[in-house]
Amino acid sequence: MTLVSLSPQNPADVVAEQAETSPSAVGAIVANARSAQAAWWASGAAARSAALTAAANALAARTDEAAALIVREVGKPTAEAVGEVGRAVAILRYYAQASFIPKGDVFAPSAKGFLWSERRPHGVAGLITPWNFPLAIPLWKAAPALAAGNAVVLKPSPDAIACAALLDEILQSVLPANLFTVVYGGAEVGEALVDAVDIVSFTGSNAVGKHIAVAASRRGIPVQAEMGGQNAAIVLPCADIASTAATIAGAAMWFAGQKCTCTRRVITLGHQPEFLSALVNAIDSLKTGDPATAGNTVGPLINETSLMKFRSALESAKAIGAEVLTGGDVIDGLYVQPTVLRGVPADHPLSCDEVFGPLLTVHEATSLEHAIELAESVKYGLATSIHGTQHDVIMKIVESVHTGMIKVNAGTTGVDFYAPFGGERESSIGMREQGLAALDFYSSTHTVTYSPSK
Ligand code: NAD
Repeated sequence: MTLVSLSPQNPADVVAEQAETSPSAVGAIVANARSAQAAWWASGAAARSAALTAAANALAARTDEAAALIVREVGKPTAEAVGEVGRAVAILRYYAQASFIPKGDVFAPSAKGFLWSERRPHGVAGLITPWNFPLAIPLWKAAPALAAGNAVVLKPSPDAIACAALLDEILQSVLPANLFTVVYGGAEVGEALVDAVDIVSFTGSNAVGKHIAVAASRRGIPVQAEMGGQNAAIVLPCADIASTAATIAGAAMWFAGQKCTCTRRVITLGHQPEFLSALVNAIDSLKTGDPATAGNTVGPLINETSLMKFRSALESAKAIGAEVLTGGDVIDGLYVQPTVLRGVPADHPLSCDEVFGPLLTVHEATSLEHAIELAESVKYGLATSIHGTQHDVIMKIVESVHTGMIKVNAGTTGVDFYAPFGGERESSIGMREQGLAALDFYSSTHTVTYSPSK
């Protein structure tokens, strides 16, 4: 079968066509990767660091081309696409240096001799990735996996095969053969990969992530799954109205709300009509349109399935008589209006379940405890933002919310790649990604006791 990737802003534009990898071929591809891995690990930290640095340089040299491809293939607005390439380069540089980080500890032995622990690679890492960060997500998994001495087989989303092919080309030009391989396809190829590799890292939807975590656990291999979010922004009465409205508008609606960390719910502490009207104005001032045009911050949805889910969310809002504060309609093609709904009960699926698009519900809390309860009332636990100036109140919320990421006076979106990233509850399974946490995930610790022979 052939996979076809269409540009969401112009579905007549075929960005790439790619033959699907046969699921039955995945085992042999992983076996080749396993052979390459042994030599990669033996080559030493300096060689691995040099190769990752060369990868960073090669990608940096093609920044404009890579950013334009991200815009064309997944509809990400240009400024964000350029930012993604910059981040991908920085990730490669960071993990190039991480090759030199001590890989264990030395302990006082309980008898004569030595006692130490050391991290060793697992072997072949299978990476299964979504379409929305088509360079950064594959690289924030592949770079630490390679730095820790593993080989990588990546299965990208069928909606991001052109970006994956570019990444493949760049990495092939600097890495030994078979160390990094891309397999193309959907669920069947992904499942074949989970069945063959030594460690799995997944990012994507909740249902698929849970399924993969079960399959990997059955095989007894390490797995991490980063999944969806239904992230809340808590707005205190002391918050600066204009800057908070602008921050939340961007976190909810840029890239048409297609990030796992997007703000999906706004919880105001008490009645805050002035803030809500500033928020609606800030959202209305965002420019929706061709993501390649400078200044447009809201592009199209990724595909027809996503559009269908957005339409059905609008219908269910209508069915319960929710008030539409702005938006509420499809514009044209895959473009939809950034939409804000009021009057959706906190336990309604529109408040609780992720709609991967520019949809925001607003809720009013009667007390601080109520605001925290509302924020925590969903099955997800990825990100929360808190907006205000009263330190003691902010700290109480910081200490009471159990999401993996907590932001104060900053949007729920935006990730620092050198700090641990991940969620709680149904947003994540397994260890944290990024930063030094990723090196722990991609290696196993062995403890060696070495005593003299007599
Ligand atoms: P998706 O779950 O549909 O697909 C993700 C990947 O899994 C794709 O490569 C897909 O082909 C593959 N896949 C699908 N079924 C599979 C199966 N049975 N076995 C193995 N692989 C399979 O997600 P998507 O639509 O590409 O991305 C959007 C989702 O990703 C949203 O839910 C979003 O919140 C989430 N996301 C999470 C993060 C995070 O870090 N938490 C980041 C970005 C996106």
